[in-house]
Amino acid sequence: MAEKIVSPPQLVKRKSSDASSQGRSAPRPPARRRRIPYTRAEIAEIFRRFAVQRPEPKGELEHSNPFTLLVAVVLSAQATDVGVNKATRELFKIADTPQKMAALGEEAIREHIRTIGLYRNKAKNVAALARTLVEQHGGDVPRDRAGLEALPGVGRKTASVVLNSAFGEETLAVDTHILRLGNRLKLAPGKTPEAVETGLLQVIPQAYLRHAHHWLILHGRYVCKARKPDCEACAIADLCKADVKTCDVPAPLRELPPGLLPDPTGSG
Ligand code: SF4
Repeated sequence: MAEKIVSPPQLVKRKSSDASSQGRSAPRPPARRRRIPYTRAEIAEIFRRFAVQRPEPKGELEHSNPFTLLVAVVLSAQATDVGVNKATRELFKIADTPQKMAALGEEAIREHIRTIGLYRNKAKNVAALARTLVEQHGGDVPRDRAGLEALPGVGRKTASVVLNSAFGEETLAVDTHILRLGNRLKLAPGKTPEAVETGLLQVIPQAYLRHAHHWLILHGRYVCKARKPDCEACAIADLCKADVKTCDVPAPLRELPPGLLPDPTGSG
């Protein structure tokens, strides 16, 4: 019988030269004892296939630098990436730095993002965020979790996205798709985003951590969808242990677009 994983210590180890060991990101959590129904080889194979599909995956929030990414992520709470991109396209044309955004001011920011949910509060946060970056960080976005999470409107998830996408760190921000996949696939069962984050960080092989965040989001968004997973189109159908799985034959493994696919529903 195949060996099952119990928090393998070799998957937890990090290189001494990586970002987290320098205190720029949360250290990988200690091994947990929960059993999951996959062997190490199966998990490695799942992520190998994700890597073949998208060697260089991209997030779907449009941005041109760490600051515009940070603002886009702050705006994306309870909004779709498509909706955020529509609003930020014009906003970032006139304010793509903290200095320009601070000069623009809350009222003008509010006008630009009116189409996004919670826009009043978000405009307030973005204006305060820009001012704080100018006054306390010389106009730079901090590269460490503590510095990011101290900014107005920035929580753990936003900080993780920025650390991963702007600074290349091996963080994993658990959104609705990753929360669902962690539980549905039984890779990292957990009731909270933090629990799923901890579980995933423990089982995903080190070599795949850099892009795991985007691979899982894109897989959840386009294949393993919330209401009806598209198992016939799934390249890991033979490995998946989800109860809802409807097919055991994996879809052909081929490279896919790195980010946004046409989405007729516009759903995020
Ligand atoms: S086989 Fe189905 S349930 Fe499993 S990951 Fe693929 S789409 Fe999701």
